[in-house]
Amino acid sequence: MTSAIIPQPGILDIALYQGGKAKIDGVTDVVKLSSNENPFGASPLAIEAAKAASATFHRYPSTDHASLRHAIGEVHGLDPARVICGVGSDEIITFLCQAYAGPGDEVLHTEHGFLMYAISAKASGATPVVAPEIERTADVDALLAACTDRTKLVFIANPNNPTGTMIGGNELARLADGLPPQAILVIDGAYAEYVDGYDGGARLADTRDNVVMTRTFSKLYGLGGLRIGWGYGPAAIIDVLNRVRGPFNLSTLQLDAAEAAVRDQAYAETCRAENARLRDKLAHDLAALGVPSDTSQANFVLARFASEQEAIACDELLQSRGVLVRRVGSYGLPHCLRITVGDAASCDRVVAGVAAFQDAKS
Ligand SMILES: *Cc1c(COP(=O)(O)O)cnc(C)c1O
Repeated sequence: MTSAIIPQPGILDIALYQGGKAKIDGVTDVVKLSSNENPFGASPLAIEAAKAASATFHRYPSTDHASLRHAIGEVHGLDPARVICGVGSDEIITFLCQAYAGPGDEVLHTEHGFLMYAISAKASGATPVVAPEIERTADVDALLAACTDRTKLVFIANPNNPTGTMIGGNELARLADGLPPQAILVIDGAYAEYVDGYDGGARLADTRDNVVMTRTFSKLYGLGGLRIGWGYGPAAIIDVLNRVRGPFNLSTLQLDAAEAAVRDQAYAETCRAENARLRDKLAHDLAALGVPSDTSQANFVLARFASEQEAIACDELLQSRGVLVRRVGSYGLPHCLRITVGDAASCDRVVAGVAAFQDAKS
C-alpha cells in the first residue's frame, strides 16, 4: 500500500552516514583508528570543567554562548560577535544548508569531500554537485567551472578528510573571489589546528563577505563525544544562522568543557606536536613497506593500495589483529584505507599488521 505520508523531497535520497567501526566481534584489545579521534583524550582541564558543570544541570544553559565565544575570540584573535557555536561543526553545516539552499539550488563540494555536505544539502532539498580533484587534491579551477547561477554553497575541507591534502591561502582566496555573487564559500577547518602556521581560513572569513569558516572540538581537542563545533563569518551570515539555531542547542556541559579546552593551549600544543611526529613516522614506515600516501596535513594517513581487493584484504588482516581503520569506498577511494594517527604503540601495531600483510602476499 502506498502511503500518503511522505517526507520532503531529497530526504529519501540520503544514504545513512556510517560512523567508524568501534568493535570487532571476538577480539579484545582493539585499537580504534577509524574516526580521527585524539588518542590522548581531552585536556584534563576540560574534563574537570565537565564534572563541575553537573552542579548546574537543573538550570537552562546560556542561549548566546557568550563565554565560549569570547574564549574562542581571544585564543584565535577573532571578533566574538561573529562566532556561532553548534552541536559539532556538523550542525553549522546543517544551518548553512537550511538557511541558504533549498529545492532548485546547488551545493558544490569536491570529489573526495566530506560526506556530510551532500547529506545536509539533500536534507534541505538542494542538489549536491561534485567538482573533480587532481591527484586527490582540490582543484580551484574545477570548482569555479562547476559553479552556476544556482550555486548557493561551496564546501571545501582544508585539509580535507579523507585525503589529508590541502590547498594554499592564495588558492582559497582565488576561489572566494571567483564565485558567483549568490554563493558562499565554506572553509571546513576541522583539521586546521594540525597545520603549522595556518589560520583555517579565519582571515578570509574576516575580510570577505562571502566566506564562512567552520571549526570543531572533535579532533585536536579530543571532544568528539561531547559534540561541539563553531563557525565564523560575516556578521550578516552569522545573524541568519543564529535565527535557525535552537536557543538551547548546546548544554552547559558542552559549553563549559569546550571553553576549558580552548583555553588550554599548552595541552593542544602537546597533542599537535605528538601527532606531527607520529604521523610522519607512520607515513614513512608504510611507504617503506610499499604502501604510499599523499603528504598528510591532518591526524590521519590515507594509505593507497594497488587495488580495492588489496585494501579490503589488508583491512581484514588488521581487524584480525584488533586494529580498526576506515574503508573509504564511499568517498570514491575504494583502493585506500584511512588510518588515524594513534599513540606510538598503536602506530606500531598498524605497521606490524601491514608488514605481515605484505609478507603474506609475496
Ligand atoms: C570530523 C570532521 C568534522 C567535524 O565534525 P563534528 O560535527 O564537529 O564532530 C567536520 N568536517 C570534517 C571534514 C571532518 O572530518
